[in-house]
Amino acid sequence: MAPPDKEEIILKGIPASPGVGHGPALVFLQKALDIPSFEVSADKRDHEIERFEQALVETRRQISEIRDEIRDKLGEEEALIFDAHLLVLEDKALIDDTIREVEETGLNIEYCLQQVCSRYIEAFQNIDDSYIKERVTDIKDVSHRLISNLMGHTHFRIGNISDQTIIVSEDLTPSDIASIEEGKVLGLVTDAGSRTSHAVIMARSIEVPAVVGLKEATVRIQTGDILLIDGYDGIVILNPSKDSLYRYGKLKVERQSIQRVFDAEIFKPSQTRDGHKVELMANIEGFEDPESLKKCGADGVGLFRTEALFLRGDKFPKEEEQFEAYRLMVETFKPHPVIIRTLDLGGDKTIGSGLMEYLEDNPFMGFRAIRFCLENTEVFKTQLRAILRAGTYGNAKIMYPMISSHKELIEANQILEEAKDELKASGRDFDADLQVGSMIEVPSAAYTIDLLADHCQFFSIGTNDLIQYLLAVDRVNDRIAHLYEPNHPAVMRTLKSIIDAAHLKDIPVGVCGEIAGDPLYAILLLGMGMDQLSVAPTALPEIKFMVRNMNMKDAKELADTILGLDDPISIYDHLRDFYSHHVGAEIRKHL
Ligand code: PEP
Ligand code: MG
Repeated sequence: MAPPDKEEIILKGIPASPGVGHGPALVFLQKALDIPSFEVSADKRDHEIERFEQALVETRRQISEIRDEIRDKLGEEEALIFDAHLLVLEDKALIDDTIREVEETGLNIEYCLQQVCSRYIEAFQNIDDSYIKERVTDIKDVSHRLISNLMGHTHFRIGNISDQTIIVSEDLTPSDIASIEEGKVLGLVTDAGSRTSHAVIMARSIEVPAVVGLKEATVRIQTGDILLIDGYDGIVILNPSKDSLYRYGKLKVERQSIQRVFDAEIFKPSQTRDGHKVELMANIEGFEDPESLKKCGADGVGLFRTEALFLRGDKFPKEEEQFEAYRLMVETFKPHPVIIRTLDLGGDKTIGSGLMEYLEDNPFMGFRAIRFCLENTEVFKTQLRAILRAGTYGNAKIMYPMISSHKELIEANQILEEAKDELKASGRDFDADLQVGSMIEVPSAAYTIDLLADHCQFFSIGTNDLIQYLLAVDRVNDRIAHLYEPNHPAVMRTLKSIIDAAHLKDIPVGVCGEIAGDPLYAILLLGMGMDQLSVAPTALPEIKFMVRNMNMKDAKELADTILGLDDPISIYDHLRDFYSHHVGAEIRKHL
């Protein structure tokens, strides 16, 4: 496909979602507004002012719409911020100053507006008053929206793509991935990113190959360039040669043969050779096709991340919409359990609804998950009511994310009781005995398992977060990706101590973080005593094959050895050798 005169260039990044993709690139830049500055002749200045007035009307319409929506959903108080935004649009001084700027400088309206707003912001910024500081944020937000409207910007969504392409971008958000239409995106390539960012986890769940952390992909690649991407090893080939295309064609065939070996065991029991039963569950996002989910051979859903429902549109889903989504999955997996995790917004999953209006310095340590829900109780209760109702259609369970103390767990349970009372009062059917679990992903929770155990029936370890909080390594920061080490002795010891503390209280514990789907670590987790693993449906066949071809006795010995090691590299080498010896050898026999 590549013209013969174009040289092949190999770029190396982080393998994020397996698979091989081949096709034309679509480069998608999200940089800050690049505001043009140009002269406007005297006879056209009235037209500039007219454009300004139209943009003011349009911006007012947009903000009023958001305000009404928030008011309906969450109440008057939360909508107040948008009233403040509307006041900025009516600020006579700001409007007059902007018009005067056009008349005096003869420059275009976008540029003049930006100049005037910058002067206001500069003047206000130095005043040490929290009210004034908030007004600065209002001016920034409103002027950005106003200038975008003047420049005719519409927010580009990946969902709008009409041809099959490989998306090349600085970064991607979970909402970008949630908007992808099946079959439209052949691959994802980003400058930033890491293996455990939520956008990447979602890319894996929809089986789109991805390579992230390439740093300069958007500079080196142009729209229309032909790319070959290898999501197994994290390689992107620009203008692939015939040789590369042939090599990757072969790799695809080899991978398909290995996959057939795994697939042959999908519907067999999750049991080791020496007779230990293991619960193998699936991590889902809720937008998958139920029929294909049934084919992954899971013993239920260990983690239903509900955020995709909230990230797809501009509005929070109503109770009915959520209820239908949860019911569908509960019915699909009946009689197996479906663990529905309550909303985990924040971190790298933000929404522009006004509830999370401000950028945080440390979003992963900020207003996230259960913290957001305990403050936005109406949003939380709506979701809880929907889950409680879905519970009557099968075996649903509730799980709270990012619990950092037993007090939070108690508070969440109180709100759950309120949700039950509301359903009772309205005469709706619901499952009053639905089990409640806590995610263990914050070190303070990991070390107070005994306290948490009195308020829930199961634990699930979110290693994606637990590792970042334990090692103080931001899970989405590619600059320090090398420090994000699941094989760190601190991680090993913490996992073991969680399992032991949970079992002392007779509470089952599983892992739903990405390491559960990594065959090297899955064996170790089982050897440590984990009761359940929950993994991406695409990873499940390999993990089941591994479980069926190993002995628990060997896995326990492996865990003992690993817990005695102090060096991440030797830990990793041990895991790799064990896998190759015990599982790799079995795979080779079947090929
Ligand atoms: C985790 O943190 O490991 C987890 C499963 O939750 P998420 O990746 O959605 O934060
Ligand atoms: Mg998490």
